[in-house]
Amino acid sequence: MDDLIAPGDVWLVGAGPGDPDLLTRKAERLIRNADIIFYDALVGPGVLALIPDTTPRVSVGKRSGRHSKDQRSINELLLDAALSGQRVVRLKGGDPGIFGRAGEEIAHLAEHGIGVYICPGITAASAAAASATVSLTMRGMAGGLTLLTAHARAGATLDIDWARLADPATTLCIYMGKAAARMVSQQLIAAGLSRDTPAIVVENASLPNEGVVRTRLDLLEIATAAALRDGPAVLLIGMALAGQGNAKEEHAYFAARN
Ligand code: SAH
Repeated sequence: MDDLIAPGDVWLVGAGPGDPDLLTRKAERLIRNADIIFYDALVGPGVLALIPDTTPRVSVGKRSGRHSKDQRSINELLLDAALSGQRVVRLKGGDPGIFGRAGEEIAHLAEHGIGVYICPGITAASAAAASATVSLTMRGMAGGLTLLTAHARAGATLDIDWARLADPATTLCIYMGKAAARMVSQQLIAAGLSRDTPAIVVENASLPNEGVVRTRLDLLEIATAAALRDGPAVLLIGMALAGQGNAKEEHAYFAARN
């Protein structure tokens, strides 16, 4: 035991995209020193394997459409464990602060006087870019990066300002967007983004069953449907991705811009 986690504290720990080698050393220390660990469905099996056999682990897994515990019950479980004086680790896929509902957990715990801390993790967009060997920003081409989700709550419609997103100088990283690929490509094209804007879909980034599909905006839906299984995937869209394909493509895209 080291004293990184105090009894009664909660650490929201980024588990990264799945490959246990992409975990931070701090995350590993926290995992080894927790009295109890609550984890999400997207935490990789290799990361879970680092949990000592004697440490109780509780799955509070959520995959879209299959909610096993609602957020309120998760908040209560974390609070009860902290109030009983345990060292609590809440393991979340990727980075806890990116589409990880960390805000609700922090607010609930802080309201009850619990010490709550974050250990950052590698987010899916970074892992996906690494899998495709691309840079998400590019000098002179993409000076900005937008992380967004294309997942609406059941029955709700997406409230997205497509005109603002259809900016060729910004790379888009779309989380939870596989089912929305058709809508995303239609809306972005309607808002003015070029049909041949490069797009890359990365499924199961960093895991042995990873898949990388390189396509273009107007073919996004077909490419996604044809090539992917049912793992989590990120959609990357933007002109910056062009220069990083083969040399011929690179030339064509640069020519189109200049
Ligand atoms: N906090 C997480 C995101 C949780 S939302 C993070 O920072 O990465 C869940 C979404 O993340 C999935 O629908 C998918 O879009 C993305 N995702 C998570 N792990 C992934 C992986 N290994 N490969 C590709 N996308 C992933």
